[in-house]
Amino acid sequence: MTKASIKKGHPKGLYVLFTTEMWERFNFYGMRSILVLFMTKALLFDKVFASNLYGSYLSLVYLSPLIGGFIADKYWGNNRSIITGGIVMAIGEFVLFCCGSLYHSSPDVSSILFFSGLGLMITGNGFFKPNISSLVGHLYPHGDTRKDAAYTIFYMGINVGGAIGPFICGLVGDTGNPADFRWAFLVGGIGMIISVIIQKLFQKKYVIDTEGKQLGVVPANAPKKLFSPVVVVLGMTLMVLLFISLFYLDAKFNYLFYLLSACFIGIPLIIFSDKKLNKSEKEKVGVIFLICFFVIFFWGAFEQAGASLTFFASEQTQRNLGFFTVPTSWFQSLNSIFVVLFAPFFAWFWLKLGKREPKSPFKMALGLLFMSLGYLWIAFGVKDVQTGIKVSMIWLVGMYALHTAGELCLSPIGLSLVNQLSPLKYSSLLMAIWFTANAFGNKLAGVLSSLYPDGNKTTSFLGYQMHNLHDFFMLFFYMAGIASIVLFILSSKLKKMMNAS
Ligand code: GLN
Repeated sequence: MTKASIKKGHPKGLYVLFTTEMWERFNFYGMRSILVLFMTKALLFDKVFASNLYGSYLSLVYLSPLIGGFIADKYWGNNRSIITGGIVMAIGEFVLFCCGSLYHSSPDVSSILFFSGLGLMITGNGFFKPNISSLVGHLYPHGDTRKDAAYTIFYMGINVGGAIGPFICGLVGDTGNPADFRWAFLVGGIGMIISVIIQKLFQKKYVIDTEGKQLGVVPANAPKKLFSPVVVVLGMTLMVLLFISLFYLDAKFNYLFYLLSACFIGIPLIIFSDKKLNKSEKEKVGVIFLICFFVIFFWGAFEQAGASLTFFASEQTQRNLGFFTVPTSWFQSLNSIFVVLFAPFFAWFWLKLGKREPKSPFKMALGLLFMSLGYLWIAFGVKDVQTGIKVSMIWLVGMYALHTAGELCLSPIGLSLVNQLSPLKYSSLLMAIWFTANAFGNKLAGVLSSLYPDGNKTTSFLGYQMHNLHDFFMLFFYMAGIASIVLFILSSKLKKMMNAS
């Protein structure tokens, strides 16, 4: 064992990345907590359009890292990409702030600002998120046993930001007066600036490897002229324009759904037709595709948080405590609060099970089961409740607790599973498939949220009719439940396929 691998404690760089990521998530989730409320109450979009936009936005948020990660690996390095991405996101928030200030007086300008603001957020996230996540791993030498714990600590940073963002942004922006939403964007933007400043101040000194060499620097053979400010600004502007167009086009034509479906059919065909891959490699790739397929349903149900579940929190949940009305956006802090509370328990529990700790496919099936039970709980809460009558907060709180238990079973293992099982030749393509599955899940979330039964409206999905909220929540119960049962049944076969050599 090397000296480094028995080292105790964590490098200071981890705490720098923790804080940078915490403020970035503060910005991202703070803004997301009021997004559909802003769309429906200020911009006066109907719920169907707002839901679809929400799905398009989040879907692209998971696709943009494919470009941001690629550019960083080849040309820019992680540090430059994080700072640039952060600045672009902050500009996005400030553009949304202007949108929130002008929607009343100049609706046309504010529409343009709205699409531009979200396009900037998508682009910035694409450069920020994959790069900060990979830097965490680079702080440690290959095979260092502290890496897992480092990612757990980092995940806490994500969720501290994810809890405080909706809380503060809700406090200043979700006041009942639509003109106040802009303050949430402004506060989000300030959070993002703090993140960039922290990273800029400390990355050189602390984000270093065990030999003291700076991490995230420009790759050795990257052409120098790519760093001139003119090229950077021009390149980013083009990228932003690309994402604004992709976002706008999806709002109009819904093409992402078909594009993502095509990726899911096309890419496996390409990989499976490669004669150089042996049977066991193909089996492992098969496991990745199957897992990605199930993950789509998980995120499709989970990410209702910022859409239909926010409509539900706003209109159907009794938030009035007599002395204070709980802002709708605060419900979006619950998931992160529960992550911070439950994560230590899950870590302890898996450790306690020792050799009996279930394998990844089984844990993922368990995650889907918790998801399904969360919806069963809330469906029970709204059963036979007349339209217009508000239900207790306990239903949303309990549901988020169950959803978080599901997230902790499923989410942390995905990336490492893909890493472990990919044949070297296809490792980036398969990592891209993992992100594509997340994007697909988020797109599905928007599509399904648009089926929210408003008033007396009846909606349907694949022949399943929804007349009220109970029917709507039961859709997710069935969807996650069926996915969970199928994955439980497949899990021992998948385990064998994973171990094939
Ligand atoms: N909440 C986590 C984050 O923001 C994970 C979200 C996800 O993987 N879909 O990073």
